[in-house]
Amino acid sequence: MSFPNTSFTGQFLRPADEGYDEARRVWNGMIDRRPLAIARCRDAGDVSQVLRYAATAGVPVTVRGGGHNVAGTAIADGAILIDLSPMRAVTVDRQKSLAQAGGGALLRDVDGATVPLGLACPAGVVSHTGLGGLALGGGYGWLCRKWSLTCDHIVGAEVVLADGDILDVTEESHPDLVWGLRGGGGNFGVVTRFTLRLRPVGRVAYRSAVWRSEDAPAALAAFGMHAPAQSDDSQILGALKYASSATWLPADLHGTPVLGLSSVWFGDPESSDNAADAAFATVPPAAVTTRVLSFADLQAMGDESEPPGWRYYTKSCYLCDVGTDTAEALAVAMRTNPSHLSTVDLGFLGGAIARVDPAGTAFPSRSAPFMCAASAAWLDPAGDQENIAWSRATIAAMSPWADGGAYVNYMQHEPSEVVAALYGADHHRRLVELKNRYDPTNVFRGNQNISPTTGSDLGRRYAKERE
Ligand SMILES: Cc1cc2nc3c(=O)[nH]c(=O)nc-3n(C[C@H](O)[C@H](O)[C@H](O)COP(=O)(O)OP(=O)(O)OC[C@H]3O[C@@H](n4cnc5c(N)ncnc54)[C@H](O)[C@@H]3O)c2cc1C
Repeated sequence: MSFPNTSFTGQFLRPADEGYDEARRVWNGMIDRRPLAIARCRDAGDVSQVLRYAATAGVPVTVRGGGHNVAGTAIADGAILIDLSPMRAVTVDRQKSLAQAGGGALLRDVDGATVPLGLACPAGVVSHTGLGGLALGGGYGWLCRKWSLTCDHIVGAEVVLADGDILDVTEESHPDLVWGLRGGGGNFGVVTRFTLRLRPVGRVAYRSAVWRSEDAPAALAAFGMHAPAQSDDSQILGALKYASSATWLPADLHGTPVLGLSSVWFGDPESSDNAADAAFATVPPAAVTTRVLSFADLQAMGDESEPPGWRYYTKSCYLCDVGTDTAEALAVAMRTNPSHLSTVDLGFLGGAIARVDPAGTAFPSRSAPFMCAASAAWLDPAGDQENIAWSRATIAAMSPWADGGAYVNYMQHEPSEVVAALYGADHHRRLVELKNRYDPTNVFRGNQNISPTTGSDLGRRYAKERE
């Protein structure tokens, strides 16, 4: 069987083709892999043909949404890369508050179509991130305390299965698969179109404050104390980082280690949240800025800080508490950070995330109140070991306060046992059942993998039952 045939409408790039090197780049500049070919697909039919060809030729495949996975799971040496980047179209049904988004859409594509209509799908905080990987693995962001995760907003999908079949998946037709798409990652098929529930958004009140290094532990501990009492209309994100040279910051702070807290208020513009106010005011910040802006502008605010092409490594963990000891340990991590581009990011969770029935979706970690990510970023390959070691050591130092589990979208390549542990026994059992039914031969293994337990015979039987 030769490929591509005449009914393939996309672009099929081999290593000698012009554009191949550009097309194999992903967000993390550390990832330098050479796929056998890159299939830039325009629709589900193209994806189906590539999967059938790869099965016949005995070649592995990987799937790329926005290419932002830090471990570079979208790309592998010697595999065919199913590149969904031509599939970024987003349409909105305003009446039903639903969006249809292509499997290769970026968050900015979704916001660009929805926000002008006063609607948004809760998603991440950097607009060049891919919707595909983010939504299938969870999706934390500014709106997650008010409306929960991106994965909780997947109400349907067009999915191309390992054998090339194209399914129109809804909560009614395939409740098992919808359960798995809400947090189970790209384990079950290629999502060529997401149907997403949208929420109302207007202009939002944004506030950002910065504390000097010496005040950071006390300010962080105040954040940890007050955050749990904040309203679900409020979200606070924190970062220990090196200060930028933004004009609202005093010049003597530029380039020094600081704590930054940013809050957004989604409630009545006439009021604000006492708990968030207290988190900012208990220790007086060195500088504060406030503004009212559109939700799309808010979503793009982080775009410059993590550009494509730098070298990146992330480890993360959930925290049950951010108290004085945790804050001291995090401040030490910041002072020992070898790169001025790296950050320790803190997310406050809870709210609507914790109110979704834990058994109702594949997403495993709904109760942890905080998440901490040591996001190492640097430029020189000679710094690889030092920066990776810093990220790992920072998260290891958090172990006294770790809440268990990890966020699947911030993980490095991990063995199946680690993935199984993060989902927990009940969720993992259900995920394996789904994997046996929809991908019994583990075609989709370029991900945080759920291994099927069946050999291909039993797998075929499950697959038959599906028919
Ligand atoms: C700068 C930056 C900011 C981030 N901010 C946030 C944030 O605020 N909140 C948050 O929760 N996460 C955030 N993340 C993490 C993000 O969720 C993951 O990196 C996620 O994998 C990105 O999805 P992607 O489609 O771009 O990834 P890709 O690298 O393209 O894909 C990763 C994996 O997802 C699967 N996949 C992707 N698309 C599809 C599809 N359409 N069908 C089937 N499988 C698919 C594949 O298994 C693939 O290997 C951020 C990442 C970066 C780099």
